[in-house]
Amino acid sequence: MKNFVIIIFLILSFLFNFVEASDHSKSIVVTSNPYASKAAAKILRNGGSAVDAAITAQFVLTLTQPQSTGIGGGAFMLYWDKSSEKLYALDGREKAPASASPLLFLNKDGRPKKFYPDAVVGGLSVGVPGMMRFLEQAHKKFGKLEWSVLLEYPIRLAEEGFELSPALHRTLSFMPDLKKIEPAASHFYRENGNGELTPLPIGTILTNAEYVKTLKRIAEFGPEEFYSGKTANLIISAVNNSPVSPGLITLEDFANYTTVWRDPICDLYRKYKVCSMPPPTSGGITMLMMLKMLERFDIESEHPNSPNFIHLFSEAGSLAYADRDYYIADPDFVDVPVNGMLNEDYISERSKLIKKETSLRDRKPGKPKGHTKFSKNVDISRPSTSHLVIVDNFGNSISLTSTIEGPFGSHLMAGGFMLNNELTDFSLIPKRNGLFVANRVEANKRPRSSMTPTIIFNPEGEIYALTGSPGGSSIIGYVTKSVMAMIDWDLSPQDTVSLPHFMRKDENTELESGTDIVRYKQFLEKKGHKVVIIPKVSGLQIIKKKNKGFIGGTDPRGEGLVIPISK
Ligand code: GLU
Repeated sequence: MKNFVIIIFLILSFLFNFVEASDHSKSIVVTSNPYASKAAAKILRNGGSAVDAAITAQFVLTLTQPQSTGIGGGAFMLYWDKSSEKLYALDGREKAPASASPLLFLNKDGRPKKFYPDAVVGGLSVGVPGMMRFLEQAHKKFGKLEWSVLLEYPIRLAEEGFELSPALHRTLSFMPDLKKIEPAASHFYRENGNGELTPLPIGTILTNAEYVKTLKRIAEFGPEEFYSGKTANLIISAVNNSPVSPGLITLEDFANYTTVWRDPICDLYRKYKVCSMPPPTSGGITMLMMLKMLERFDIESEHPNSPNFIHLFSEAGSLAYADRDYYIADPDFVDVPVNGMLNEDYISERSKLIKKETSLRDRKPGKPKGHTKFSKNVDISRPSTSHLVIVDNFGNSISLTSTIEGPFGSHLMAGGFMLNNELTDFSLIPKRNGLFVANRVEANKRPRSSMTPTIIFNPEGEIYALTGSPGGSSIIGYVTKSVMAMIDWDLSPQDTVSLPHFMRKDENTELESGTDIVRYKQFLEKKGHKVVIIPKVSGLQIIKKKNKGFIGGTDPRGEGLVIPISK
């Protein structure tokens, strides 16, 4: 009888485990675009690693989401290598050319150029693209499939064409300067009969013959072609001969470009280890500062959209961003006080400035150990960018944010892809009140970023969630709240990405327009907040552990697609 009970128990637990395991996918893809998700899923099904799938996705995104990302830009990734149980961080940020100086964006009278279009559009804003080296380095270390195999589908798609999406169409309709510059004007617009250029309609099948040629060269000669072959020359020519604001970029700049494997930065938030990207992005540090400042509050018993939580989250944001604005820049040029900023005593001292009843108006940067006196970096960026997350069959996981900076980058195109305007992520002004801005333009320097690719581990040390988003400097707020939503309230990825947005980066507390939380305006104003109601265009892509597998969520504000793969 006893044996019989044991056998029944074993059968039941086997069935239960089986159901649990089969309930959720072991491998899964979430990207910001359906073509890219499908292509990445196919790579995984063919035995590729998460890196292989991400590479194919990036080549597809360059074609199908050219307003946000592409091989003419740069990227950061966090990668969990299952076999070595090690977390890697790869920096593929663009670099300023050797010709760049702190005066790059100043007019002859010493005043900064107008941000858009003067600084953004043209050759001056183009940094040496980091993406191709980044993909190459990631592939060398973690790729399983042949490099050329990863390009097969993107080449076919560029030859056969893809359906122009509503988001691409929408972005094209508010880019007055893009239609003034060739070859982008002819590629994305057509004459409407009245001599005006209008964006190609939604659903247009758009091919890209120049991009096909570029991809074929890169498939045949490898990523090096991009830095020393025809592609490099096409980029250099587009930048240096730009009809507006020509730049000065050389083959030597291309030859000198390197990616950097950096140490990820991690900290505990309520027993979960939250890891992200170190400088030159401000994302990781600023997010961890916010989380650590908020840890002492009972967040769990608040509702994710409660006015009290909006207040606390905004206050923590304003303090963390205050430090970010002064101290973070390319670590190869500036001593960023990473340890000082994340020091427990320092954070707890900063956190004490958060008062439940009133909003801190006169907030100043703190004095973390090791800081240098700089003046403030005022950033202006126009949200674009793309995030993707993938877990493969082997348990490797990738969280990758890539960008060409603003919508359609510098508006210049070479080899069928858009060139970034990443150099306007530098402070346009090098000095203020006699003090340098840490993030001023310098030759061969990487501009400070806000990108925050993140991986969270549960208390057992297993992957718990992967998250990240586009959104300019708001990226940090979006990602931080997604981390809290999944840890404090255990929300699903889809519920997490669907939450309304709020944050405070500087003076204003921003509430997302068109959402329920705008009714808290007065409540917040009574506490002293300066409230503004504005669109908050995130593009969160998230994977979260569920039982023995994973589930995903894609931001309803974008056009992403979740593809669960194997059971
Ligand atoms: N270029 C920005 C950065 O690196 C991202 C722009 C965006 O997401 O819109 O932080």
